Amino acid sequence: MTLKSTSDKGPQTLSIHGGEAPDPVSGASAPNLVMSSTFVVDEEISFSANNLSSETPFVYTRWANPTTQQLESKLAILEQAEAGIAFASGMAASAAVLLAHLSQGDHLVISNTNYPGTAEFARETLTRLGIEVTPVDTSELANIESAMRDNTRMVWLETPSNPLLRISDIRGAADLAHRQDALLAVDSTFASPIATRPMTLGADLVVHSLTKYIGGHGDAMGGSVCGKQELIGPLRGEALVHYGGVISPFNAWLIMRGMATLPLRMRCHQENALAVARFLEDHDRVEKVLYPGLESHPQHALASSQMDNFSGMICFRCADPKRVAERMMQRLEVIHYAVSLGHHRSLVYLMQTDDLVGSSYRLQGEELDKYRDAAGEGVFRLSIGLEDSADLIRDLDSVL
Ligand SMILES: *Cc1c(COP(=O)(O)O)cnc(C)c1O
Repeated sequence: MTLKSTSDKGPQTLSIHGGEAPDPVSGASAPNLVMSSTFVVDEEISFSANNLSSETPFVYTRWANPTTQQLESKLAILEQAEAGIAFASGMAASAAVLLAHLSQGDHLVISNTNYPGTAEFARETLTRLGIEVTPVDTSELANIESAMRDNTRMVWLETPSNPLLRISDIRGAADLAHRQDALLAVDSTFASPIATRPMTLGADLVVHSLTKYIGGHGDAMGGSVCGKQELIGPLRGEALVHYGGVISPFNAWLIMRGMATLPLRMRCHQENALAVARFLEDHDRVEKVLYPGLESHPQHALASSQMDNFSGMICFRCADPKRVAERMMQRLEVIHYAVSLGHHRSLVYLMQTDDLVGSSYRLQGEELDKYRDAAGEGVFRLSIGLEDSADLIRDLDSVL
């Protein structure tokens, strides 16, 4: 009772059965949770990560673990990638890709507004190590094209991006990167593999924060990278074994449990988000709503062509956002005023423009004007959960 082939199965079947097999010893139908840091071996195994291969038996959980391995293959199957690797968090996964696949003297082209942790890591850590970084608005391919240099080794997209939900054209960016022998890495956290499969559009590496939609319940942190075996293999030896950002098998088990319902949840996230986005669009006190599923989103056509589901992230603007945020903290009944996203619980948070553009994005000139034009003093990032949309609408109406 193991899937003989995955290419002929749908995403609901793959989310449940992909990468899992009944336990050969006990017959357990649910995946085994193996909480063991070390494994009894019956042969000498090299201590060097350089000798690690897919043939190496389980030795130590920082190298590989039977529970985590099932999560890794489920992720690879859903992303239509050859291989997957899990990390302790999305940031551990992102840092692994950037550090293990870039070296001193290399050049990186990256979205100029994205997840603040990634933005700061690129601008501070990578540049300190002698890696050149050019942040551009990747939602326009021409900006990527003009940023490319002879030493560009990687293009990094985040689509849809934090917090303005800009969409980047994965296929077009892959062509530009590959013309230059550079890798295309895509942080697809806001989309989930149900909405977008970047590997099928030409990406080389797909990064996820499993803490968000994939885990889906706000209780376990994790991250992952999927891609060709030749790019994932070195990540295991160098990033997992040596940087050490290994996921707990318990978190891997919780995330796999969450993944069983990922396609169902994404359908509900999208349905609820569309209802809330339309409500916000019609509300007098709301100045602007960005949701890729709304016809008014500036890149609705690209989103429709690249996404099978518009996900549950909405960004909106209203007058006096700090007062509205205060009311939210005091009065919201259902929605939690908290960071993070992709959970079954709805979450909202004010992303203040001065904070983001100054410390994380360091935007200047025209790019700063463009950001302010879209975001004003700040935008509310709303992660629509799985509650009844009427209750979410009533909750928001009470604070706007
Ligand atoms: C949350 C997030 C990350 C970081 O993931 P953690 O699991 O919090 O480390 C990276 N990218 C995006 C787009 C995110 O939303």
